[in-house]
Amino acid sequence: MAKARTQFICQNCGTVHARWVGKCEGCNQWNTIVEEDPMGGIGGGPGRTPKKGRPVALTKLSGEIEDAPRIMTGIS
Ligand SMILES: [Zn+2]
Repeated sequence: MAKARTQFICQNCGTVHARWVGKCEGCNQWNTIVEEDPMGGIGGGPGRTPKKGRPVALTKLSGEIEDAPRIMTGIS
């Protein structure tokens, strides 16, 4: 049974909660917790090193690249 690694982050003070709480433990504010999916690009919390992912150069939508990078397959 895989466990979802969703985090709940307070939008007021940034405290990360392992599960949903109605009241933030960091700033004592209600309903400030928002569910955040780590796979959505947050990239790990404080003191944590992301195990996956690597920097990817982005290209503007205006188009400054002519061709997509080609991958040599070795297949004639
Ligand atoms: Zn808070």
